[in-house]
Amino acid sequence: MRRTPDDNTRVRRCILATIACFLVAIRADAAEWTSLRTEHFLLIGDASPRAIKDVALRFEQFRAAVASAFPVLADSRPGPPVIVIVFRDQRSYEPYKPKFNGKTVQVGGYFLGSRDVNYITLAADSGGDDFRALYHEYTHLLLQRISANLSPWFNEGLAEFFSTFDASGNTARFGRPIESHVGMLRERQMHVPELFAVTQQSTTYNEGDRRSLFYAQSWLLMHYTFVENRDRWKQLVQFEQFVERGATPDAAFQQAFAMPTDSLDKELLTYVLRPAMRVQVVELNQRVVNRLQTEPVRVAETEAHARLGDLLVHAARYDEAAPLLNAVLKTTPDLPLAHAAMGRMLLRQDKRADAMTHLERAAAAPTADEFVQFYYGAALLERGSGQQSGGDADVGKAIVALERAVQLHPGFTDADRLLGYAYLYMDDASKARDALRRTLDQEPGNEEVILMLAEAYIRLAQFTDARDLLGPLVGRAANSATKERARDLLARSVGVEQQQQLRTRLATESATSQPEPTPEPPIAPPPGRRTSTLIPAFRKLEAGETRTYGLFTEVECTRQQIVLHVRSSAGMLLLRAVRFDAIDFISYRSTTPGTISCGARRPAEDVYVTWRSDEATFPSGSSQGIVVAVELLPDGFVPAP
Ligand SMILES: [Zn+2]
Repeated sequence: MRRTPDDNTRVRRCILATIACFLVAIRADAAEWTSLRTEHFLLIGDASPRAIKDVALRFEQFRAAVASAFPVLADSRPGPPVIVIVFRDQRSYEPYKPKFNGKTVQVGGYFLGSRDVNYITLAADSGGDDFRALYHEYTHLLLQRISANLSPWFNEGLAEFFSTFDASGNTARFGRPIESHVGMLRERQMHVPELFAVTQQSTTYNEGDRRSLFYAQSWLLMHYTFVENRDRWKQLVQFEQFVERGATPDAAFQQAFAMPTDSLDKELLTYVLRPAMRVQVVELNQRVVNRLQTEPVRVAETEAHARLGDLLVHAARYDEAAPLLNAVLKTTPDLPLAHAAMGRMLLRQDKRADAMTHLERAAAAPTADEFVQFYYGAALLERGSGQQSGGDADVGKAIVALERAVQLHPGFTDADRLLGYAYLYMDDASKARDALRRTLDQEPGNEEVILMLAEAYIRLAQFTDARDLLGPLVGRAANSATKERARDLLARSVGVEQQQQLRTRLATESATSQPEPTPEPPIAPPPGRRTSTLIPAFRKLEAGETRTYGLFTEVECTRQQIVLHVRSSAGMLLLRAVRFDAIDFISYRSTTPGTISCGARRPAEDVYVTWRSDEATFPSGSSQGIVVAVELLPDGFVPAP
């Protein structure tokens, strides 16, 4: 049979179809990346858009359910983003699974937290128990935002409790009994005094068998109080608050529960021996589902790879991150995320100059986010403030980047904290104060911030505010270096205040004659800068000598003698000498003083004057002693109160 053109067409069609099928096959195999932004998560993955949406819904529902069960966690303050990477299957997930000692750990999902971004990774075929670990970690993340100092049993207990989340339709449930915990606790228990004594540093918290028991017992305590006995729950929360405020567990327990601890032990044992436990049911708002109406959008593969590179950087897997990021930058030289990830990696490897190049490019991009600005600012600040001199330009640029970060993300505490430091460095005490106050609002109790804020207050002459912060810190700081710094600052605030009062008094006294030029208030060295404000090795006192701090105001010269006027807190000291060269003038000032000559000294200088009492007879009032030495004090020196 002769072939008709129709046949030919048909053949061609068939060939085209085969090619098409083939192409489709390849496309299905090559990664197709999509991304979905929900209210609290950013999802990205090579899993199907359907699977990505399912994962998004699970996490949003989990968050909503936790917040409705424990409303204090319904915190809407902005925090570091939570990025969920959904791999289409285990094969695609394999290279990004966590590693331990170079070997891949077979997990169905894991959580990688850090201060700037939190990563959750999983595969579309990950199962129920994989989610348990993720819900557990995500609960920690939510808890961290209400307090940085939660007790381990509280933190782990709630994380375990909430980890058993599941939902169908608009009904969510928490508290399905965890078999391994129940089994263990029916055999042995950890008594509450031991449970409450566990700290982050205890071996119980970090070693095998006791660790499992600790988790199980913490879970049981939460389950019992949260689901079964709400009065106990209220007492437990109260107890935790007392402990956080510094009470000993013993005292706090008595105050909150007013019963012996073994009563609670008995209640817990009875509870775990029961054949069944109730679960907590939470009705979810349909809005959680409705808000998820948008569809995932395609993202370029290079962008997805930059994200994976950033994940590896955050896992400190630089050997794997570098080739991936280099390949991305070869094809897409301007991709901000790739530059940012590269910059972060190089920073962590101490390759500061190279890091700066990448961060600069990342920060210049109009799409640069707050974290890029933050990293760039932090790197500049470290470089600038580490220099002996000439660091101001870097610190100035750092301020611009950090201000931008705070502008993009109000409430970005880390950026505010660094801004406070940078402003202090630039002697802008009032801006430092504002940034540090914002930081302290978000992180009450952060000791480093308290010290810097007190420093700003002292420079602004807000001595009461400074002392209100420092006093409690001296009392409760656990770290001896912090305690020491707080004590030093407290002493300095008293010293600076005295110095200022002296100047004010002097100004009032001389107001009738010539006005005293208002001197600069003494400025203490900012942290990390001008550390060269020396504490001089003062002249040694000899027998019979007295040293007094004061303001050197005048040299009165007559034919027979000279009389130095030094205003001390006790009043005006008049000290005589026969000649100038009988006085030992010592200067610790960075600028060489002019010659000391007769007449008023304007402005009056901070001095230590050393003198002996005067046995010769002089008209009363004309001299209280014989001057031995005058030590001119350095800028920023504050006398001991
Ligand atoms: Zn945990």
